Amino acid sequence: MQTVSISVVIPLLNEQDSLLELCQRIDKVLTQQNLRYEIVLVDDGSTDERWQQITAIPQKNPQNVKAIRFLRNYGKAAALMVGFKNSIGDTIITMDADLQDLPEELPDLYKMLQSGYDLVSGWKKKRYDPISKTIPTKLFNFTVRSIFKIPLHDFNSGIKAYRREVAQAIPLYGERHRYIPLLAYRIGFTEIGEKVVKHQKRQYGKTKYGWWRFINGFLDLISIILVTYFIKKPMHFFGTIGIFSFLTGSVFTVSIVAEKLYKSYYHLPFRQPTEQPLFYLALVALIIGVQLFLTGLIGEILISQKQNPQKDYRIKEFLHSEIQNREQT
Ligand code: UDP
Ligand code: MG
Repeated sequence: MQTVSISVVIPLLNEQDSLLELCQRIDKVLTQQNLRYEIVLVDDGSTDERWQQITAIPQKNPQNVKAIRFLRNYGKAAALMVGFKNSIGDTIITMDADLQDLPEELPDLYKMLQSGYDLVSGWKKKRYDPISKTIPTKLFNFTVRSIFKIPLHDFNSGIKAYRREVAQAIPLYGERHRYIPLLAYRIGFTEIGEKVVKHQKRQYGKTKYGWWRFINGFLDLISIILVTYFIKKPMHFFGTIGIFSFLTGSVFTVSIVAEKLYKSYYHLPFRQPTEQPLFYLALVALIIGVQLFLTGLIGEILISQKQNPQKDYRIKEFLHSEIQNREQT
């Protein structure tokens, strides 16, 4: 089997107008550089006639094209993950199918990755998108950069280069493609670089995401923060809030009881505890506190039952010395 240096993975949904030109430009630019490559098209649920257009590409040119078709639309993250699984190149480069990213960027991205990075992300410094998209995107990037301390300006750019091992290790689903550098970083692939790339207006087709991308993006961000920081220690998360809530409830309760005892001892007028708002706050805080504590406990029990704990870590190197060998035998 021939070795392949680069697998270009392209997720696509109804992008037939740009596809042939995209593949031909990739072919031209990589062949000029004498780089062996394959193109992996992942069709994320396009219609039948569009799939036929995709399968016709290898009969024209270029020929080294793989195409995978989903049964229905599962989303860009799933398409990328399946593309990664079916790639054989040492380097994997992803790009969008709409020609908003330029195929001519590929050789430089490849070279930059070769200089020792785990992942190089494209930075669309000058974007040609409507302002309703650029401003929320800036805010999104700023938030992720500040929370996670990863010095990238553009987390969600479609054009990125990965070492093979890195691409295959990233757990992608839902709409998590927006956080790929972050997911890689959390695994321990910390050599993350950024390269300014040119960006084009969409000439063919329409964007596949509407305003809801920002709500979903925000919810995904919250879930990633929870998952990355607390998935292995749910008790730390739920237990802390639970204890805080329980303590607040306890202080309220003590103050209500103390007030009642004091005032009835000295025959002062007082309101019954059940007539005070504080009583109900105390009750709610106590109940929520216990519930959160139990949620943390259940989380811990689930983790301890996990079938496949090996998946939680990655080994960098393994020294298998002679002595160890002899001791084992
Ligand atoms: N895409 C996909 N599945 C989806 C949505 C999008 O494969 O459910 C592909 C789409 O065809 C394109 C890339 O993901 O190749 C980026 O989508 P789009 O250009 O619509 O996003 P935008 O550039 O507006 O962020
Ligand atoms: Mg696009």
